[in-house]
Amino acid sequence: MKELLKRYFGYDTFRPLQEEIIGSVMQKRDALVIMPTGGGKSLCYQLPALRLDGITLVVSPLISLMKDQVDALKANGIAAELVNSTLTYAEIMRVQERAQRGDLKILYLAPERLALPDFRGFLKALDVSLVAVDEAHCISEWGHDFRPDYRTLGDLRRSMPAVPFIALTATATERVRHDIVSQLGLKEPQQFIASFDRPNLRYEVRPKQRAFEQLVQLLRARKGESAIIYCFSRKDTEELADRLRDEGFKALPYHAGMDGETRGRNQEGFIRDETDIIVATIAFGMGIDKPDVRLVVHQELPKSLEAYYQQTGRAGRDGLPSDCVLFYSYGDKIKQDFFINQINDEAERQSAQAKLAQVIEFCELRRCRRKYLLEYFGDDSLASGADAGSYNCGGCDVCLAELEDFDATVISQKILSAVVRTGERFGAGYIAQVLRGSKVERVLRLGHDKLSVYGIVDDFADGDIREICGMLLDKGLLHKNSGEYATLGVTAEGRDFLRSREQLILTRPKKFEQESESASSS
Ligand code: ADP
Ligand code: ZN
Repeated sequence: MKELLKRYFGYDTFRPLQEEIIGSVMQKRDALVIMPTGGGKSLCYQLPALRLDGITLVVSPLISLMKDQVDALKANGIAAELVNSTLTYAEIMRVQERAQRGDLKILYLAPERLALPDFRGFLKALDVSLVAVDEAHCISEWGHDFRPDYRTLGDLRRSMPAVPFIALTATATERVRHDIVSQLGLKEPQQFIASFDRPNLRYEVRPKQRAFEQLVQLLRARKGESAIIYCFSRKDTEELADRLRDEGFKALPYHAGMDGETRGRNQEGFIRDETDIIVATIAFGMGIDKPDVRLVVHQELPKSLEAYYQQTGRAGRDGLPSDCVLFYSYGDKIKQDFFINQINDEAERQSAQAKLAQVIEFCELRRCRRKYLLEYFGDDSLASGADAGSYNCGGCDVCLAELEDFDATVISQKILSAVVRTGERFGAGYIAQVLRGSKVERVLRLGHDKLSVYGIVDDFADGDIREICGMLLDKGLLHKNSGEYATLGVTAEGRDFLRSREQLILTRPKKFEQESESASSS
């Protein structure tokens, strides 16, 4: 195996789990592989494909990736082809003939092919040694990227029961994992779950207040080192790059709307260390493998935790300590909501909403961010007995924060009163607006500016109030109402607390205080 690895792929050693997975496949066992993007999943079926007698089928939904992979395999002298909608009929026929003659080792397929009866007949006649299902979470409605065509893979499995199947994905919750196994009809599959942990990355979420000042400070502390800053719009990238250059930084923009030449030049400049900072939309990063990016900043909310993990994952590829900083404001959430609400397709809109809600939960988290991310990807390697609430990774802002007790009696009474007075029909964001005396249209329209609780808080910022709402939820003084929106209600304990006026001490990170100060002084 090592020899094949060297000869065909040019690598000296296996990545974690690759050897075990390949061993299992060679024994013709079914396997389920969960590995982060960039972990090296392809090798797990490409290398066995070379050793096994017949042909290996690879099902993949990503047409552009398919072509890249096939080109790379061909360049390494491996007989590989693909069949998808980008090929003409004549081209498809030529590929099929070669497969029938036994000339191919690996054949990539788009899932919609499997629904075509003629094509299934063709597959049946082949000497198939292995089927690899890439992006296997697409088979599950519980996943984030359901593709109905993937359901036909169950039929494919039943039509070739003796052929081993290997399912691979970078994201799978417990539920999705079960779904993959049952939908594909995997037989006692060996499950391989690689760690998603990037121990050298430090995760931090900061309130987006005076964000430019904060950004400049961050970059000054890392002068001369490589950083990627993700923005929302093309215009934002240009403007921010300009402002950073005015501050004396070497910064260039990157987005899909630039002409190819400029974009390529900016990217090259970054890779060759002529430019320290690239200010980019999410278009940046595909296929970039710069090992020494020391800082990834999100100026805006990422669209999903998958996107966040992938984008922050571009920091510290060389294993050295690197920082990931996300600037969060509730206003950005509302901005994103606005764009999401314009999506026409119902299912797509809901999916985008769910993904954003997950990102917001991550931002407002009061427990270890690393552990939360890993759990999201189905990696419970950090669980090891420690309970979720008290785990400390030592490498995220929550875990690193120095905690202090503070007297939360008065603010909690105000919050609970505001929840009661507004009829227990609103979320924490709205409660904060009422308490802080916001003049937003909704508050005025509902007449909540007439309430006695309106505008009675000036010593805590909106974000602090939302955070304290979270603590009161934890304490059982508030509860979340069931229903579509995360509205808050007061529990029986909460009512007791209001009546008894007893003291309430909560803990918060030390930085909390500074934020409150800046909020009240602005
Ligand atoms: P995934 O599909 O899990 O996202 P890939 O299979 O595309 O990951 O692999 C990611 C990168 O890692 C590729 O550039 C690949 O060539 C490289 N790679 C895979 N296995 C090894 C290995 N054993 N040694 C070095 N590089 C590897
Ligand atoms: Zn942590």
